[in-house]
Amino acid sequence: MDQRGESGPARPPRGVMPYYLAVEVTAVALLLVAVPATKPAPRDWLFFAVLLGSALVQAELSAKAERMRRFLSRNPHVSVTSVWLFAAALSVPVGLAALLAMLVYTHLWARTAGGVPGVRLYRATCSAATHVVTVFAAGTVAAVGGPVAAGVAFVLVNTVLVMIGFKLHEPGRPILAFAGSVAENLLDLATLCLGAAAAALLPVRPWLVPLLVLPVVLLHRGELGRRLEVQVHDPKTGLLAIAEWRSRAEAELGRATRTGADCGFLMLDLDHFKHVNDTHGHLAGDDVLRAVAEAVRGEVRVYDSVGRFGGEEFVVLLPGIGRGHSVAVAERIRDAVAKLVVVAGGTRIDGLSVSIGVAVHPAAGPAVDDVLGAADKAVYAAKNAGRDRVCVSR
Ligand code: GH3
Ligand code: MG
Ligand code: MG
Repeated sequence: MDQRGESGPARPPRGVMPYYLAVEVTAVALLLVAVPATKPAPRDWLFFAVLLGSALVQAELSAKAERMRRFLSRNPHVSVTSVWLFAAALSVPVGLAALLAMLVYTHLWARTAGGVPGVRLYRATCSAATHVVTVFAAGTVAAVGGPVAAGVAFVLVNTVLVMIGFKLHEPGRPILAFAGSVAENLLDLATLCLGAAAAALLPVRPWLVPLLVLPVVLLHRGELGRRLEVQVHDPKTGLLAIAEWRSRAEAELGRATRTGADCGFLMLDLDHFKHVNDTHGHLAGDDVLRAVAEAVRGEVRVYDSVGRFGGEEFVVLLPGIGRGHSVAVAERIRDAVAKLVVVAGGTRIDGLSVSIGVAVHPAAGPAVDDVLGAADKAVYAAKNAGRDRVCVSR
């Protein structure tokens, strides 16, 4: 698992910094003691070079997917980088393995940090430190207990260190919520298996180890694809799922707060949608939802985020857009919905309408929930005023 990808607030919550510092001081102390004490044989340097080269090539090939994965991540998650780190823990003196962890994480940070809003240096540094400590523990155990015990030590030390960090960041979340799914944990296991295979290959055919780069890259992409499918999109409409929309909104408000820009929020609720279902059936209702989703997307810019809030309610995030312009976008959407003609199961459905609430950050409040709450109130105002209209939060 890996906490380096986790985005977070600009400053860590209280109590987190002392913990991070403790992990970092431990990692630096281990490096300072273990690296000079290591007397690597030429063979150790060869293994080190092969693993470092493979890790760097893999990171380069995975860089784009890695940026995306970090952007999506809310839980501790598998890091395929562990293949090379675990192989090092099994194959080279522990000082060299810890050095490898530090170099690989420095490179990963430099390569993937740009372009991921909210990924914080303080967390990246702690993740590098976490892996130095993990590799050190696994390498030490490998020397006395063999590869299986080393694998157990790798998982245990990594999991405990990462979970403490996550729990300090989000004390309200139950500890099991950070544990990840069965699929994620199986992927963890697959990563360690590949690491063990690399370690077994090194002494006999070191030049074949880089052949593992391709399976590792594909494993990484496979994980990304699964995350994209499961978490990002609402399967019915193809719009953003609400958790994904919310995390984008949070990142966007963080940016807006720093730059002083406005950010518009629209909340949409279809009018009398129950009547559409009652008249034409739920399958036709689904077709209408898809058509409305497409109409909304058609009225906003590509970098605006449209999400399905639930049922027949949608949310739109308009970065950099103030009150007047947000109302204009809302009116355009209302107009587009009014003009929709949906043909479902041989029947024409038209005469649709939508009530839209508009609220703007920072006027409506500092946090996503403040602005969403204000937009929601504005939707109710629109409903009470007779529906098929746009209301703005005061
Ligand atoms: P109002 O103008 O007050 O918003 O009336 P409404 O009928 O739209 O409001 P209400 O919230 O009472 O009903 C929403 C309906 O949306 C009820 C539910 O059956 C329907 N609905 C929610 N999700 C789905 C879905 O995924 N597919 C379909 N077909 N209908 C859905
Ligand atoms: Mg509703
Ligand atoms: Mg409704």
